[in-house]
Amino acid sequence: MSEYGPDQAAADLADKEAELRRKLARLTAPVEEGSTIGFGKRIGDGTTQAIQQMEDAGSAQIVAGTLDEVLRAQERLAAGTWGTCEVCGEPIDPGRLEVRPWSARCVEHADVVL
Ligand SMILES: [Zn+2]
Repeated sequence: MSEYGPDQAAADLADKEAELRRKLARLTAPVEEGSTIGFGKRIGDGTTQAIQQMEDAGSAQIVAGTLDEVLRAQERLAAGTWGTCEVCGEPIDPGRLEVRPWSARCVEHADVVL
């Protein structure tokens, strides 16, 4: 067993990027013509649809935010700074990187606002 390293991270980040782009495409896709939307007979169907669209918009923002983190992590990989905290420069715990290869900070500085 070796520690989680840049090679593994590069593969994981590429997978995550593809997954996030798929999700984002689905969340931001226009409503399909001919679906049940607009044809509901009950009052409230439109409201349900509107709420769903608001939720999708919120999810899309979160997905876009994570995608941004993934892309920045790929830049750090290329620059050779991946795996170190952007606040203190100390190595980030490999266990943390394995769960979130796009982590840019150590546990101690995870919530620091720059
Ligand atoms: Zn730190």
